[in-house]
Amino acid sequence: PALFGPDRRNSRGWELTHGPDLAEIEAARAPHRAARFEAVPLIAGTALPDEVLELRNPADPRDVVGTVSPASAADVDRALAAARPWDADPATRAEVLRRAADLYEDHFGAIFAIVAREAGKSLPDAVGELREAVDFLRYYAGQAETLDAPPRGVFACISPWNFPLAIFTGQVSAALAAGNAVLAKPAEQTPLIAHYAVGLLHEAGVPRDALQLLPGDGATVGAALTADPRVNGVAFTGSTETARIIARSMAENMAPGTPLIAETGGLNAMIVDSTALPEQAVRDILASSFQSAGQRCSALRCLYVQEDIADGFLKMLTGAMAELRLGDPWDFSTDVGPLIEAAAKEDFAAYIAKARAEGRVIWEGDVPGAGHFLSPTLIRVPGIAALEREIFGPVLHVATFAADEIDAVIGAINATGYGLTFGLHSRIDDRVQHVADRLAVGNLYVNRNQIGAIVGSQPFGGEGLSGTGPKAGGPHYLARFTARPAPALAD
Ligand code: GLU
Repeated sequence: PALFGPDRRNSRGWELTHGPDLAEIEAARAPHRAARFEAVPLIAGTALPDEVLELRNPADPRDVVGTVSPASAADVDRALAAARPWDADPATRAEVLRRAADLYEDHFGAIFAIVAREAGKSLPDAVGELREAVDFLRYYAGQAETLDAPPRGVFACISPWNFPLAIFTGQVSAALAAGNAVLAKPAEQTPLIAHYAVGLLHEAGVPRDALQLLPGDGATVGAALTADPRVNGVAFTGSTETARIIARSMAENMAPGTPLIAETGGLNAMIVDSTALPEQAVRDILASSFQSAGQRCSALRCLYVQEDIADGFLKMLTGAMAELRLGDPWDFSTDVGPLIEAAAKEDFAAYIAKARAEGRVIWEGDVPGAGHFLSPTLIRVPGIAALEREIFGPVLHVATFAADEIDAVIGAINATGYGLTFGLHSRIDDRVQHVADRLAVGNLYVNRNQIGAIVGSQPFGGEGLSGTGPKAGGPHYLARFTARPAPALAD
């Protein structure tokens, strides 16, 4: 299969406005609606779980999705002792990863069900999740065949709950494609889909000592993994704050130069100028800010609208926000699912309450039932500098700017120190070029939404506080997992 050029293919999708496709999905998901899943440490040799915790559906905490037995520090030690790099030749590794991609696609019903119930993923988000995971497997498999470098040894892969299959699989498959042994620590909130995925990877032929699973929390499993000199590299996606803790621990405990590949947070902006097509900009803002309930590091947080069009534009935007359907991610008609956990909801609700008391909430809606739901909310701010932190939920901030202030806006966005995604809606080519030349971000999108980077077409990753590079799903990523990295690490 081609890695580049017109013959390159991404995974198949489902047409979610097409009755037969929806019927096929429903039939495949249904057996998993009330099933209980399990996540246990998968350590080559033995696993001796002693504690068992329940995991509940964030849309309906009465729904017990399954149980997890967290790994202990002793389990981490045992897994490190058992870890063996994958010594199969690159063509065999590629074949096994491609087989895993096929297995993922075959098991779409269970996967859609688990990510809906464990992570609150709406159906379009679940489809995106599976397709990206499959793309990562096939893309890195293809790259493995062209790699001419030995593995580093043992990689710790520490992944987030917001893409509990896609990013989990991306990290793990890259490390495996390069021939490393992998110790995978999924997010504490989403071990069930990770356990399911590792089952498919083992079934495809990844050896058990080359891929081990260590569910558990950061303070136990993450801390043990990132402080052990037997680890030769760490791939991490999560907060900038946690990346700092990991970097510090690696510097103190591991060989100098041990790679940390980190994808972290963002304070992402979009500029809509007076030449933008408003209907399109509104649609792209809804996707950028509220898909995945805003729980993407790529999500739009601060919208700048040119003041000449702001009144009419914000009326159109809030009108569209009012049409978003908040609810159970299992329902086909749901646009926005729940937040991952109660603590996030409480934190962001308090943030919104403060803005409300200051008279800055422009729009907010009602929330359904018992789950951890937060309404899409629009808050007025003077500019991105007023955002003290990343609010990882469906909260959009809006500021206005005058026609001659565009360079000040660019300066304010760059001054945040983050540099992940940026969106621009403008019909003036010179302006597009002017802005693109000056913004320090990893992924810049023009006249479209700013989420959902596609493996192989849009390598994803930021700069500054947003990550180390190399970008995931791009041509330079895999080299960083080998003992002989290519000279250029950024793309
Ligand atoms: N790759 C995702 C996107 O382009 C974001 C990844 C993340 O949230 O960590 O939307």
